[in-house]
Amino acid sequence: MNTPAFPLPAAARLRIVLVGTQHPGNIGAAARALKTMGLARLVLVAPEQFPADEAFRRAAGADDLLAAAGVVATLAEAVADCRYVLGCTARSRRVQLEEFEPRQAAAQAVAMAADGEVALVFGRERTGLTNEELQLCHAAVHIPANPEYSSLNLAAAVQVLAYELRLALREQSPPAAPDNRHPDEAPASHAQLEGFFAQLGQTLDEIDFHKGRTPDSAMRKLRRLFLRAQPSEQEVRLLRGVLADAQRMARLAEGRG
Ligand code: SAH
Repeated sequence: MNTPAFPLPAAARLRIVLVGTQHPGNIGAAARALKTMGLARLVLVAPEQFPADEAFRRAAGADDLLAAAGVVATLAEAVADCRYVLGCTARSRRVQLEEFEPRQAAAQAVAMAADGEVALVFGRERTGLTNEELQLCHAAVHIPANPEYSSLNLAAAVQVLAYELRLALREQSPPAAPDNRHPDEAPASHAQLEGFFAQLGQTLDEIDFHKGRTPDSAMRKLRRLFLRAQPSEQEVRLLRGVLADAQRMARLAEGRG
């Protein structure tokens, strides 16, 4: 059987995001890893050197992916239109995020790609992803490597995930269940959720929820809760309506007090 390069349209909604890559050779090797697995979409967030000859040399024939790669300044930009974002970390349980192994992660990513854009995010060679960057992710992925030596080369980690994505895409038959949701019930995009989180943060300040404590821990837990719930666009609008009323009441009370 002749397996096409892109077995199913879901592959077209999967993007690999490399954040702050230091060695251009790793960008090339990651492009090659993707192309061998039938994936094509690469986004580079603030690479240290790109375009670079070394990247094209290491791509070894996957230079079409490099030429088409998007380059943006921040991870938030790279995933703004995504409905599901997975962050790959070399250290297990580093963050308070649900953590998957590659197989589960790939199944989840492919399922989510049936009706929205999905990103798999990889960090810098030296320092990985920052906590702020991981907070933009719905869940973390850790390759269960030797716990005493768990950090794979960046392109090798991309290869493991790309392979699992390919297997998950092949498994995905029959193709995605018919989507009988109302269009308004599409899961909210990342940008919509970030808008909601910003308003939630403001509201908590305005109703004096933190009472002198630092807001970080509560916001982290709330973010985790809402990211896990994967609210629809309509639900995010409803939540924002609730917040707007709470803000209005807080301002009235302030005026009276
Ligand atoms: N020194 C860094 C390792 C970075 S390796 C750290 O301790 O975080 C570069 C990137 O490859 C990581 O950010 C991650 O995205 C990916 N990676 C490496 N090993 C991995 C593993 N075992 N599981 C998942 N991702 C891994």
